[in-house]
Amino acid sequence: MDALRNVQRTEPQKSMSSFSFTVEAECSESWARAGTIQTAHGKIQTPIFMPVGTQATVKSVTPEELRGAGAAIILANTYHLMLRPGSRLVAEFGGLQHFMHWDGPILTDSGGFQVFSLGHLRKLSEDGVAFKSHLDGSAHLLTPENVMQIENELGADIILPLDICAAYPCTYDAAKEAMERTHRWEERAWIAKEDYQSEQTLFGIVQGAFEPELRQQSARFIGSMPFPGVSIGGLSVGEPKLEMWDLLKYVTPELPKGKPRHLLGVGSPEDLVIGVGLGIDMFDCVLPTRVARHGGLFTRYGRINIKSARYRTEHGVIEEDCDCYTCRNYSAAYVHHLARTGEQLYYRLGTIHNLRFMLRLAGQLRAAIIAGLYPAFRDNFLELYTPTSEQVRENQRKKWKAARLQ
Ligand SMILES: [Zn+2]
Repeated sequence: MDALRNVQRTEPQKSMSSFSFTVEAECSESWARAGTIQTAHGKIQTPIFMPVGTQATVKSVTPEELRGAGAAIILANTYHLMLRPGSRLVAEFGGLQHFMHWDGPILTDSGGFQVFSLGHLRKLSEDGVAFKSHLDGSAHLLTPENVMQIENELGADIILPLDICAAYPCTYDAAKEAMERTHRWEERAWIAKEDYQSEQTLFGIVQGAFEPELRQQSARFIGSMPFPGVSIGGLSVGEPKLEMWDLLKYVTPELPKGKPRHLLGVGSPEDLVIGVGLGIDMFDCVLPTRVARHGGLFTRYGRINIKSARYRTEHGVIEEDCDCYTCRNYSAAYVHHLARTGEQLYYRLGTIHNLRFMLRLAGQLRAAIIAGLYPAFRDNFLELYTPTSEQVRENQRKKWKAARLQ
């Protein structure tokens, strides 16, 4: 316990890390802010959307295409990479940046979320979580300590500690138990990370399931730890969106203003616009790239299905005044044709458009905050944009789940 008390007294570690965060503008009517995160691999202007590269690749696009779409930082999944190709192999190649030829900042999650959603025969104890790989049934153990080692080998700029994502819905007692154990694990992770003389920045994770009081408690606890940034986990796990927004109202006021806030696994266009007003700086989600591969492309009016017959003869582009590679060069009719025939090029063109849409939206939000116009921007956007309904989302989730099990 003495060691833990020392941790709480320690100021954020600045000596080893080039990480910093500055807030440049704040909205007077909401919690929106614009800032800059500095990392060893470059700076990130916030608010930002982070494309997800699960297997050390953002599916179907090259790092050059990512840059072209305006990506400043990407996320990679520890769970998938520790199983394949293995973190030690990635370390032999000099870390993820060298392995995948992306020279910008990278964030790796802890693997916890995937263990709870993909792993089989999980056994949770104070020590950590034992599970069997969804790929070959091999046995693995993740502890707060060995996750620090694995993420050190992967070599991302920002890393996350092992946490427990409580089920939705769950009882108050189960939520409390998961949160308290997560807090103990995060203290262990902070201590374990000290063994690695790296430039990596360890964020804390706020949990507490859907209990406002626990969320407040977790935000206060994690906010007072020396983590230079905070991720908010355990949301977007099947709950209605309104519930998620409501909970954030309890979390944000408890967090220190000087640390960037990351909302884990959240990122539809409307999520970005609303989340920014609730004080979130960083978003990540597979949604924009995943729906693109299924034909769902974003426009300011909502998500369209490019496979729909109405685009067969469309001479115009997917989204008027979109500056992405796809919209600069191809008609909606051509993209429709590629999507309908299942051509490889479609996956690339669709993905590029959706990524650019999200990154342009993040840039527009930033400009609006700096200009003092965020509330008007949010209201205009939400008036034009028709979100995909909860029912449609639920059906899609089921389809993807079924496809994954085959
Ligand atoms: Zn476009």
